[in-house]
Amino acid sequence: MRKPSGKKAKTNTKTTNTKTSMARALRVWEDDPGTGVEVSLDSRPDPSATPLAYRFPEPAPEPSDDNTSFAFRYWSAAAALRRGADFWASRVPSGEWELGPVLPVLLDQGEDLNAFYDRQALNFFHGSLPDGVVFSGASPDIVCHEMGHAILDSVKPQLFDAGSQEVAAFHESFGDMSAILSDLQLPSLRAAILQDTGGHVSRNSRLSRLAEQLGAAIRAQAPDAVDPDCLRNAANSFSYADPSTLPSVAPASQLSSEAHSFSRVFTGAFLDALGAMLRAHAADPARPTADELAKVSFHIRDILMEAIANAPVVSNFMAQVATGMVAASASLNAAYPDILKEAFTRRAIISLQTSVMATSRHPASVAAMTETSTSAIPLDQVALPAAQYGINEPLMVATPSHPRRVLATAAQPDLTPADPMSAVSAATQFVDDLFARGRVDLGEMETRKSVIRLGGRLKTHKLVREKGALTLRRILFDCGLCRQ
Ligand SMILES: [Zn+2]
Repeated sequence: MRKPSGKKAKTNTKTTNTKTSMARALRVWEDDPGTGVEVSLDSRPDPSATPLAYRFPEPAPEPSDDNTSFAFRYWSAAAALRRGADFWASRVPSGEWELGPVLPVLLDQGEDLNAFYDRQALNFFHGSLPDGVVFSGASPDIVCHEMGHAILDSVKPQLFDAGSQEVAAFHESFGDMSAILSDLQLPSLRAAILQDTGGHVSRNSRLSRLAEQLGAAIRAQAPDAVDPDCLRNAANSFSYADPSTLPSVAPASQLSSEAHSFSRVFTGAFLDALGAMLRAHAADPARPTADELAKVSFHIRDILMEAIANAPVVSNFMAQVATGMVAASASLNAAYPDILKEAFTRRAIISLQTSVMATSRHPASVAAMTETSTSAIPLDQVALPAAQYGINEPLMVATPSHPRRVLATAAQPDLTPADPMSAVSAATQFVDDLFARGRVDLGEMETRKSVIRLGGRLKTHKLVREKGALTLRRILFDCGLCRQ
C-alpha cells in the first residue's frame, strides 16, 4: 500500500490546468490512489444531475487538497461517478438505474476490504492495515467498476439472478470495462496513457491496471490472491475455457471459475480490441491522438451496448456478446469487425466457425442479431434438485434459458466449437459453486441440521420463499476484494 493515511501522500501530479488550480479548482484522484496521480477539475461535479442521478448521504464537504482527507475521497468518488454515468447515459434507454432515478452512494460502510452493488446502493468500505487505511470508495477505478454493475443491471436486469458462472463473470468484466472507459473520459489520462504506451493502449499501463492501491493492500495479506501490480490487470493473456472445467479457486496467475478470475478473459479481449480499434481509427496509426482515443471509447461503448442488448442470456453468454459486437461494429469502421473477430478468436471466446459467420455480414444473420432486444424476456425458473446441499425440496433457480437466435460458440482447446452447456446444467454448476464457496444465506433453512454450511465471508445469494417455493435470489455483486 503506497498511501498511508497518517501523512499526506506523495503525488505525481499531472494536470491539464495547473495554473487555474492555484485559484480554487477541485483536486481529485485521476484513476486510483495507488498511482498517486491527481487531476484538477474546473468545476465541482453534481452527483444529483440527471439522467442517472446519485445521492450521497453526507453533506458535500468543502474541497480539500489534502489527499488523505474525507473531502478528497468524497470529490474523487463524486467526480468519477458523474463522469462514468454521463459516459454511459446515452446507452441506458430508460434514463434510470434499475432501482429508480437516484442511486445512493455509501462511501464508508465500515471495516472491510470490499465494495459491492446490491440494487439498493453502491457500497464502499475501509480496511485498516498496519501502515495505514485504504478506502475502496476513494478509487475512481473501483467506484466506476461498481457503477458498471448498476449500469448493466439497468439495461439487462435478467443477468442479476441468472444461474450461470459465465454471466456472473461477464458482469464483473463489465465493471472493469466501465472503469477503463470511464477513466478514458479524462483528457489528462488519455494523454498520459498514449505517452506511456507509445500509442498502444492495450499494453500494460495504469489504464489496464485496475485498483492498484487495494490490490497492494490485499496482496499484503494474501500474496497470490490478486495480480502482482494491481487488483486485476486487463493486459493479460488468459484464454476462454468452459468455466465448469476450471477449478473453483486458483491463484491470480491462473484462471478459475470464480467470477472475478474468469472475467479477465473477456476484459483482456476487450482491451486488445480497444488498442487495435484506436490504430484503425487514427489518421496516423503510429501516433493516435487523445481526441481519437476519446472517439474510439465511444465507438466501443456503442458496439458493446448494442451487443449486450441483443445477446440472449444463455450459458455461453460471452460468445453471444462477442458475436454481437463483431456484427454491431461494421457500421462504425470497416476495419472493426476483423479486429474484434481476432481479439475474441485468439482467446477462444468465439470459435473459428463463429468468427466466420459473424464477419460474413450475411443479411439474415445480422438481422437475427439485431432485430429485437432480448432484455425484456424473462428467464425460466427451473426446480433443481437440492438434496446435495442437504435441502429436502427442490430449489427454484433462474436459468440462462433464452432462445438462441444465432449459433455462437466458444472454442475448445483443440479449436473445435464447444457445444454450449444446457441452461439447467449451467445453473446446476453455478449453484454447486455457490454452496461450495459458502456464499448462500440459508434463510429459513439455517435451522435445518442437514443443510451444508461452509464459511463464506459475505453472502451473495439467499434462499427465499416465493409463491411457496424455495427460490435462490442474488443479493449483491460482491467485488471480490478479498480471497474468495
Ligand atoms: Zn464487481
